[in-house]
Amino acid sequence: MFIVWGKKTVYRKIGHVADFCSICREPRPFKLRRVGSAGHLYYISVGEGELVGYERSCHECGTTFPAQVTTYATVSKSPAPLEDLLNRTFPKLREFYQQRLVLEEAIRHDPAALSQDQRHSLIRAAFVFLSPQVEQRFAATHIDKEITLSMVTAVALAIFAPLVVKAWMPDAPESSRPIFVIIGLLLVGWQIAVSGRRFMRRHIIPGLAKALDPLSPTEDEIQTVMAELKQHRHKIGRKLRLADLQARMRRKPAAAT
Ligand SMILES: [Zn+2]
Repeated sequence: MFIVWGKKTVYRKIGHVADFCSICREPRPFKLRRVGSAGHLYYISVGEGELVGYERSCHECGTTFPAQVTTYATVSKSPAPLEDLLNRTFPKLREFYQQRLVLEEAIRHDPAALSQDQRHSLIRAAFVFLSPQVEQRFAATHIDKEITLSMVTAVALAIFAPLVVKAWMPDAPESSRPIFVIIGLLLVGWQIAVSGRRFMRRHIIPGLAKALDPLSPTEDEIQTVMAELKQHRHKIGRKLRLADLQARMRRKPAAAT
């Protein structure tokens, strides 16, 4: 008998806190989770496992960052408006992030007035914050809903399409099943091929555009950072299509149009 066992990452929700979001560039409410590593048998784990660390996910943009629980005065069990969470969980947030908040104010006021080095490191930081999500996604085979749908369609085509052909053309000499099997395989292959770009557009580009928009980066500035990340083997540098990012950055909120 084949026994499946090993280590599995286990997440446990702890509560809600206020903290600074480097993608939204503002203090935001966050969901706080404990990350553990537990033994599993057939992917069923017992307990919360050995402590690996903590992470916080922004309620607004969904980006996850490592968290230091000792930073918070307390953790709220339920979600709450930002000011309420701020007062209870991180009352010293504005002191703690004072320099950062001053920098953000300067970005909002006139991003072109920042030095070239400062702009470069701010643009690179936005990519680096989102890089772990890209690494995680491309480290393993990932089946999204479109791939699942294409697989179901491929099976349905192989089973039912030959019957339909036979009913319409009873005199057809050969079974048409192999043709539909090939069409189904091509459909699944195509969906697997485009799933990486789909992931980037859905899960990475919205956050990246949100973080970069206030800096109004030029194409050259973005390309320089992407080349640097590629050189350091960050998958985000390779998987991201500049045109997709630019298209998203050009899309302004409805209120502004
Ligand atoms: Zn955010």
